Amino acid sequence: MRIGAHVSPAGGLYKSIERGTELGADSIQIFNQSPRMWRPTAYGEEDFARFREAREQSQIGDVLIHAVYLLNCASEDPEIRQKSLTSLTHSLRVGDSIGATGVVLHPGSAKTGHVGEAITRAGAVIAEALAESERCALHLEDTAGAGGTLGRSFEELAALIEAAGAHERLGMCLDSCHLLASGYDVRTIDGLDGTLAECDRIVGLGRLHSIHLNDSMTPLGSNRDRHAPPGQGEFGEDGLAVFLSEPRFADLPVVLETGTVGGAVAAEDITLVRALSERGQAMRAAGSTG
Ligand SMILES: [Zn+2]
Ligand SMILES: [Zn+2]
Repeated sequence: MRIGAHVSPAGGLYKSIERGTELGADSIQIFNQSPRMWRPTAYGEEDFARFREAREQSQIGDVLIHAVYLLNCASEDPEIRQKSLTSLTHSLRVGDSIGATGVVLHPGSAKTGHVGEAITRAGAVIAEALAESERCALHLEDTAGAGGTLGRSFEELAALIEAAGAHERLGMCLDSCHLLASGYDVRTIDGLDGTLAECDRIVGLGRLHSIHLNDSMTPLGSNRDRHAPPGQGEFGEDGLAVFLSEPRFADLPVVLETGTVGGAVAAEDITLVRALSERGQAMRAAGSTG
């Protein structure tokens, strides 16, 4: 399990490696452009080279790029879809250039419209972005299910992958907070087993490539996306220890997005999550989790 954190690339892409290293992270996630603006950040070959050099000298294994939240590949508005395609393609190309593990994408929102048609529109945009980039994987993230957001269930994730041509570069990112909020109780061994069995049957665990580790401020099935720092939400330390004990997450990047320093992840948060992971695995080995 390569535990890491969402960090800022402010001041240069390579700075994100420095920030991850300061936190003691084994993996990082970044936005590749300002999360509030459509305009992509224009990186040059020098930025990429400096990033790759910093990464080689660090212990950072995985680098995830989170596509910005403005994107809605499922929008009914062709202009929004075109902008989303441009931005997503840019993210994937940055991923190609820095050797990212994957670009994480919220699949989009149907707003108040027809969900099936929204999935078809999102699939077309995603397929085109993959065709216009070379190597970087795309991880569709499960969502809390607020409003018309797509990806609230494994059925929707499977339908999105299908609509995008079941491309081999398509995978998924599961967010612990979003799973709980969308009704999957992954705080117990039985609940987690049942959820992953369902995920395997409907999507296929071969597509599971990354994990977001967030606690949840709102309860099971609330359909609200409100992250809490690790241990301070509906999971609590016990629930997170169980979630982190899952052997099928052992080879994945597990990235914290919310921490205790004004929402940002601190070194202490990573230390806590590492300890919870060890505790969960010891409990599982002793057969004492329930
Ligand atoms: Zn996300
Ligand atoms: Zn979230």
